[in-house]
Amino acid sequence: MTEERLQKVIANAGLTSRRKAETLITSGRVKVNDQVVKTLGTKVSEHDQVTVDGVPLEKERKVYYLFYKPRGVISAVSDDKGRKTVTDFFDQVDQRVYPVGRLDYDTSGLLIMTNDGELANLLMHPRYEVDKTYVAKINNIPDVSAQIKLRNGVEVNGRKTSKAKFSLISTDHKKNTAIVRLTIHEGMNHQVKKMFEAVGSQVQKLSRESFGFLNLEGLISGQFRPLSHLEVSQLR
Ligand code: URA
Repeated sequence: MTEERLQKVIANAGLTSRRKAETLITSGRVKVNDQVVKTLGTKVSEHDQVTVDGVPLEKERKVYYLFYKPRGVISAVSDDKGRKTVTDFFDQVDQRVYPVGRLDYDTSGLLIMTNDGELANLLMHPRYEVDKTYVAKINNIPDVSAQIKLRNGVEVNGRKTSKAKFSLISTDHKKNTAIVRLTIHEGMNHQVKKMFEAVGSQVQKLSRESFGFLNLEGLISGQFRPLSHLEVSQLR
């Protein structure tokens, strides 16, 4: 029988964020089997009856979407600067979904959105080595030695990146820019931009075209579609 922390169970039921769930608990609004529980981290199982303000938690149906994130959108559930967030696109979806990992504000492309915290954690774990492929417009066309470095690993945040796939899609020698494809399986912050910086190129435009076997076929920027049962089971 799996047990989970109370604040996680409340948040996963789609009621609120993990932090607000903690406040609900410490302010005495949460009961487990009719007893007020104010201790954060209390473990509960599916057999425990959890209520918030006397209302039982509903077990929320898990949903999974493949989203084509546009540029100029924050990969978060809210933004203190009032900018558009990825969850704004899911207003019509009953469940409270959140992004699996992040794409930068100025990066477009494939993002999985779900309310399944367990799958999200699995997919974001560094050991879950899913290939993520990016297409970028960069300046300073990488020479052969820079290309080899990108493939073998460059230093980012004091760590060497693992082996990557790199290819030139097209080059503009007059402007000294290139369109390139890079496949990595780690997910460090701003990794693609930093990898190109490490070989003297700056990313001018970035898009994630695939995540494992998933790609954006059939979607335009700002659109999403549900993942099929088969796709979800293949992700696990
Ligand atoms: N790498 C980046 O630099 N930015 C992203 O948005 C994703 C990967």
